[in-house]
Amino acid sequence: MLAEIIAVGSELLTPFRQDTNSLFATEQFNSLGVTVVFKTIVGDRRPHLVQAVSLALSRVDIVCVMGGLGPTEDDITREAVAEALGVRLRRNGDLLAALYKRFAERRASMPGNNSKQADMIDGAEILPNANGTAPGQWLDTVVGEHRKLVILLPGPPMELKAMFTAECLPRLRAALPPRHIARRVLKMAMLPESEVDARLAPIYTRFNDVETTILAHAGEVQLHMQCTKAILEVAQGRVNELASRVEEEMEDAIFSSNGESLEQIVLYYLEIRGATVAVAESCTGGLLAQRMTSISGSSRSFLGGAVVYTDDLKVQFADVPEDLIEDKGAVSREVAEALAHGIRRRAQSTIGVGITGIAGPTGGSEAKPVGLVYIALDDGKEINVCERKFRGDRERVRWLASQQALDMIRRKFM
Ligand code: AMP
Ligand code: MG
Repeated sequence: MLAEIIAVGSELLTPFRQDTNSLFATEQFNSLGVTVVFKTIVGDRRPHLVQAVSLALSRVDIVCVMGGLGPTEDDITREAVAEALGVRLRRNGDLLAALYKRFAERRASMPGNNSKQADMIDGAEILPNANGTAPGQWLDTVVGEHRKLVILLPGPPMELKAMFTAECLPRLRAALPPRHIARRVLKMAMLPESEVDARLAPIYTRFNDVETTILAHAGEVQLHMQCTKAILEVAQGRVNELASRVEEEMEDAIFSSNGESLEQIVLYYLEIRGATVAVAESCTGGLLAQRMTSISGSSRSFLGGAVVYTDDLKVQFADVPEDLIEDKGAVSREVAEALAHGIRRRAQSTIGVGITGIAGPTGGSEAKPVGLVYIALDDGKEINVCERKFRGDRERVRWLASQQALDMIRRKFM
C-alpha cells in the first residue's frame, strides 16, 4: 500500500514554519506497512490543492490531507478534496448542532463562517476531534476502478496526533492486510559515506525485499534497513541476515547495531572494562566532556578534565612542558601527547585524552592549516596520536575532533 501526504498551509511554504505533521504521520503509516511515496506541501489556494489531490488520487492508495480544516476563508481543504473527487459537500446537522453548542457553552455566538466546519464530503465518516472544533474526515471510496482511502486531518499537531492515534489507526488496521515492519540501524564512525556505500552496495542490493538507506552526518554513517512482511519474524529474519552480512564486511567500523549513540557505546565499553577517562581539551573547548556527560551514569567512567585553551593553562592544568609548546607549537603531535599524559597523571584515570587543533576559520597557516587536529590517548603503557585534517566550518571541525576521540576510546576498549 502506498500513501501520499499533502500538507496544506501557505505558512508551510515560508522559512518560518516546518511541516512536522508528516513526520509523525509517516511513522504511523510505516508502522502499518504503508509506504509514504510522496509528500506534497500546498499553499492555501483552492486550484492548487485540487490539482495536488487529483494527482495523489491518480498515483497512490491512501491520500492523507492535513490542515486547512479551520473556519476561515483560507481553509479550503474540504472544498478542494470534494472537487477533486467530483462529489458534493453536505452540511451535517449533528456537527452543526455540536458547533453551536460549543459556542453556547462559552456564552458566545458562533460566527457564520464556522458552520462550514460541519461540511462533510459525500460518503465520508466523521473523525471526532478531541482537542478542537474541526472534525476530521475518513472516506473509503472507489476512484476509477481502484479503492482509495482519503483522510482529512486538522493541522494543529496536537489535534492531528490525537486524532490519528484514536481514530485513524484502528480504521487503517481494519482496512489493510496485516503487515509488519522490521527495522534496524547500523552506525559507523569516521568513515566517508562514499566508501561505506561502495563496500555495502554489492551486499544490500542482493536483498530486494529489504529497503536500505544510507544517511550520513558529520563523522557518522548510518545504514537504515527496513523489511515489510505479513509475519514479523520473517521480516526480522531478513533484516538480521542483511545486518550480519554488513557486519562481516565492515567489522569493527560498526559501533552500534541497535540505535545507540557513540557516546553511549563508549561509556558502555568503559564500564564493562572498569576503565576511567579524563580529558584535556583545547580546540574542542569541552565538547568531548559535554558529550560524555550527556549520558546518564557517565560518572562511573568519566572523571572530568580541563579546558586548556591558552598555553598557560596547558602548562598549569595538564603539565605540558613550556618549552615543548615553544618548540613544537600548541597544535602539534607532541603537545597532544603531553596533554593526554598530563591529564591522565593528574586525574589518576585509566586513560587520558588530549585534543589540540585549529578549528578556524582564522588561525591557520601553510604548515598548520585550519582543520588540523591532533587527538592523543594515553593508557599508561603507550600513547596513540591521531593526526587529522578535517574539512568544514568551525563547528564541524570541533565535532569531528570529539567524534574521532570517542571512536579512538571505543576501539581501545571494545
Ligand atoms: P490549519 O489546520 O491549517 O488551520 O493549521 C492550524 C495550525 O497548525 C497552524 O498554526 C499551522 O501552522 C499548524 N500546522 C498546519 N499544518 C501543519 C503541519 N503539516 N506541520 C506542523 N504544523 C502544522
Ligand atoms: Mg492553515
